[in-house]
Amino acid sequence: MTHIAIIGAGTAGLATAIVLARQGIQITIFESVSKLAPVGAGLLLQPAGLAVFAHLGVLESALTLGAVVTGLEGQLPNGHLLVNSHYREAGQGQYGLGIHRATLCHLLIQKLDEYQTSIHWRMNHQIDRIEDGGSETRVYGTTAGQAFDAAFAAVIVANGARSTLRPPAWVRLDRPYPWGAAWMIVPECLSLDRQILHQFYDRSQIMMGVLPTGAIPNKPDQRLSSVFWSLPTTELHGFMPDQAARGAWLEQVDRRWPTVAAWLDQVIDVEHPSAQWLSAQYRDVVMSQYGQHRVGVIGDAAHAMSPQLGQGANMALLDAWALGQSVAYGRSGEQIDWSMVWQHYHRLRGSSTLFYQSMSRLLTPLYQSDHWWAGVLRDVAFTWMYRVPYLRREMAVTISGLKTGMLSQMQYAQIATR
Ligand SMILES: Cc1cc2nc3c(=O)[nH]c(=O)nc-3n(C[C@H](O)[C@H](O)[C@H](O)COP(=O)(O)OP(=O)(O)OC[C@H]3O[C@@H](n4cnc5c(N)ncnc54)[C@H](O)[C@@H]3O)c2cc1C
Repeated sequence: MTHIAIIGAGTAGLATAIVLARQGIQITIFESVSKLAPVGAGLLLQPAGLAVFAHLGVLESALTLGAVVTGLEGQLPNGHLLVNSHYREAGQGQYGLGIHRATLCHLLIQKLDEYQTSIHWRMNHQIDRIEDGGSETRVYGTTAGQAFDAAFAAVIVANGARSTLRPPAWVRLDRPYPWGAAWMIVPECLSLDRQILHQFYDRSQIMMGVLPTGAIPNKPDQRLSSVFWSLPTTELHGFMPDQAARGAWLEQVDRRWPTVAAWLDQVIDVEHPSAQWLSAQYRDVVMSQYGQHRVGVIGDAAHAMSPQLGQGANMALLDAWALGQSVAYGRSGEQIDWSMVWQHYHRLRGSSTLFYQSMSRLLTPLYQSDHWWAGVLRDVAFTWMYRVPYLRREMAVTISGLKTGMLSQMQYAQIATR
């Protein structure tokens, strides 16, 4: 029976395990941590990610714990809505879903439990090396200080942005991103529209986000919001160390957006504010290909980018969907033709990934950079762009994660069907 290894139990790895187990393939999941901890920021699942949720059969449960988001509004200090994008402009009935990372992980694991006979968990197993042989692929790793190795029909690398398992010959770019974010999860913000991702910008140096995040599985009645504050990575360590720093920061926010500052003043701990904030750093990863022979690379390991467009988890889910489609395409009984699989996979994911990488590279500096002109350029360009109905719609489709090129897009229904 075909047996495939997946390295990493994040969004990409778990979703891929579901689509492959559903095809009767045996899966071993290697995960370096011993327990998947319920930590992490809120994520915004775009319509593309939700289409994959529908495909996986987890959308209904996601809707009970997540928070429906109808659009994105980005405000300047003078109250002008620079970004004002609503999913309905991308397609009737479309929406996003704010979700806690722990909830996303919980939903995927719950679904995987339905395929218990096909799934073999190897927690606390760190993979250090992969060898792509002729008729099998071998993984080498360590668990509890002991070395081990095992052979599989194929290996899918899904171990996140800092992966050292990507075949070096495929990597065109792999570097840390100069800006990151301090973030915290707090009780839901009731003073802002609860169905909107709110962003706040001042030039390209100040950016804050408040995302409806829904609830975590063991506290379904406590609705949450995630707060993001963008910072150069050099300033992330020791952000808001004490009460004085808390006061100075709140004053900065209050000068620009008093309603949000008043709410933040209520939810940020006075004595130990630093304990509430966590930090996130990002990488830029570009590869020339995502699969060959018996090795594939998916999720952040394949195309990590700044979270400006909010596409990381969606792209990881789309990768999983595409891999499921491609394995079905290249499979005949117990035989899988891997060259057919990767040909099909690149057809499904190549242009879309390239499009979002390019957009991310183009737009991120307009929000996070030290160039004085970047924010000015953005404010002028966006104000003009939102006046043109065609461009407004294109912006909404881009955010929804469905674009495959400047003039092409995928359809929700094409992905959502099982
Ligand atoms: C603050 C923040 C906000 C974000 N907001 C959004 C958003 O709004 N929308 C969105 O779509 N995306 C967002 N993202 C991005 C999103 O979280 C990622 O793109 C997505 O989770 C990637 O999933 P992944 O499975 O590829 O990797 P990961 O989730 O990083 O999972 C990788 C897994 O591999 C394991 N692992 C690593 N190395 C090894 C090894 N050698 N052996 C075995 N296991 C290993 C790790 O322990 C981990 O469990 C955000 C990210 C951050 C940090």
